[in-house]
Amino acid sequence: MKRILTGDRPTGRLHLGHFVGSLKNRVKLQDEYDQFVMLADVQALTDNFDNPQKVRDSIKEVTLDYLSVGIDPQKTTIFIQSQIPQIAELTVFYMNLVTVARLYRNPTVKEEMKQKGIEENVTLGFLAYPVSQAADITFCKADLVPVGADQVPMIEQTREIVRKFNSIYGQILVEPEPLVGDFPRLVGTDGQAKMSKSLNNAIFLADSSEEVEKKVMDMYTDPKRIKPTDLGTVEGNPVFIYLDAFTTETDKHKLDDFKSRYKEGKVGDVEVKQYLVKVLNNFLDPIREKRKEYENQPHLIEKILKEGTKKAIAEAEKTMKEVKIAMKIDYFYHDKHQ
Ligand code: ATP
Ligand code: MG
Repeated sequence: MKRILTGDRPTGRLHLGHFVGSLKNRVKLQDEYDQFVMLADVQALTDNFDNPQKVRDSIKEVTLDYLSVGIDPQKTTIFIQSQIPQIAELTVFYMNLVTVARLYRNPTVKEEMKQKGIEENVTLGFLAYPVSQAADITFCKADLVPVGADQVPMIEQTREIVRKFNSIYGQILVEPEPLVGDFPRLVGTDGQAKMSKSLNNAIFLADSSEEVEKKVMDMYTDPKRIKPTDLGTVEGNPVFIYLDAFTTETDKHKLDDFKSRYKEGKVGDVEVKQYLVKVLNNFLDPIREKRKEYENQPHLIEKILKEGTKKAIAEAEKTMKEVKIAMKIDYFYHDKHQ
């Protein structure tokens, strides 16, 4: 069985972008693959080191998000990054295989530094997070990494590290492939290119129906359209992008009707938005219900995370042994193992 590794930064609850970009795929893939899903708390701390409580609280929230969308702990190993010391060890070894200039050129790192206003005073930890991500992916020898579009450069960086490592130390590591979902980059409610926890433009899986309504009614639509009789643009309009993503097969004809009326100036933004509220709440209702079930069982959540982490450590130990032998730092192995 091929292996998958994916994960999320525990920096807040997960949103619709995560669902279409990655969670939906994970639910499907857990039947065909040996799937590992990581709560990337070490990575979250790279730009949230001064807010550890947020990261801590988000571990529980994100786990609830996973379980509520149908990630099944019987099929998927859910674990916490900071509890796998081998990831930190591998990161240090991989640092020798990457230049600082290459990290500065990484388009995602570049964009995030700009977004966070840290281009001039970026920490070593933040700049190096793609190296740590290579350790996340390789400690369990993942073949596939389902991600959103913003993470594709990270996988490329990992592939380079793997090739360099293997060319020097021998064929130990596996070169992973990215797997991008149907919606590699869902726009934000403000029309910004990416819905993101950190940009205040997200609809969260745990939002109440009232919160969804408020966010949708405030959404950015076609800026050129002032009156309902103005001809509207459907392409690139966040309201229609969300409708495309969340309308069920059986309601597709209704959506097509809205689209043609919008283009002809025969329907107002308010009516389309009200329809989107309904579509999103229909999608979110069963997720909310499942979340409630798990929320009442904190011990179960802890047990799931503990068991998943234990399984991940066992994988990490196997890989680390091979890595240390290959790197000739297996000084005391013969004492213990022969
Ligand atoms: P942060 O702002 O803290 O970075 P985030 O919203 O970008 O949070 P991450 O935890 O960094 O979320 O991303 C987890 C996964 O979800 C990644 O594979 C990422 O590519 C994917 N993802 C995040 N946002 C979107 C989006 N808007 N559309 C599609 N995929 C997304
Ligand atoms: Mg991110």
